[in-house]
Amino acid sequence: MIRVKTASEIIKMREAGKIAAGARALAGRLAVPGAKTSDIDSEVRRFIKARGAEPTFLGYNGFPKSVCISVNDRIIHGIPGSGRLRSGDIVSIDVGATKDGFVGDCAATFAVGDISGEAQTLIDATRQSFFEGLAAARAGNRVSDISKAVQTYAESLGFGVVREYVGHGVGKELHEDPEVPNYVQLPRKGADPRLIEGMTIAIEPMVNAGGSAIRVLTDGWTVVTADGSLSAHYENTVLITRGEPEILTRE
Ligand code: MG
Repeated sequence: MIRVKTASEIIKMREAGKIAAGARALAGRLAVPGAKTSDIDSEVRRFIKARGAEPTFLGYNGFPKSVCISVNDRIIHGIPGSGRLRSGDIVSIDVGATKDGFVGDCAATFAVGDISGEAQTLIDATRQSFFEGLAAARAGNRVSDISKAVQTYAESLGFGVVREYVGHGVGKELHEDPEVPNYVQLPRKGADPRLIEGMTIAIEPMVNAGGSAIRVLTDGWTVVTADGSLSAHYENTVLITRGEPEILTRE
């Protein structure tokens, strides 16, 4: 069931989104060579709590930390730990904040020190694929219009778009209906809802430098590229309006 948000709920979602976006930016600033990922997690948790919010991911389905930190060939759901970032790494940071019962969810991939041109191209393309999807996020369009825009852009550059994990509605819950895939199933089948004013969705392309196939590590969480290629992620929580979509996860 898709939950359309009221005006007062949207105000709360803006507040949660602002905190999540600030947390993402903080994590990006902390992602320097030598940084321990568990320290980034601690700093971000402090940042969120200091603003009267809760880290949405902590304890979600048993996730043990507040931030997902996924380095290089790790796509999503990496668990912060004692590992240290090194110059040349790319690091995907995914963070959620819950404030007054509403969630903001966002992610981005950051360069650690000096990275290769190929890695920077992947980061830039993943971010741009989000904005291609965002341009299609308009009342009257369907979810698959977003999916198609993301996929078309990313695949035109020869990159692989992850299938097994998708964007989603977001609001009181981190994951609400509808699913927002980054690819179109052909022939189009199943639910493909129309976008309406007041819907809030997380658009989140996960793009691999190589193939689209994934596997999950034995920790039960960390998702990596099957071929070992680099992967990048970019996500914002977005409000569907009568006109331009509004990014709710911004500082
Ligand atoms: Mg998400």
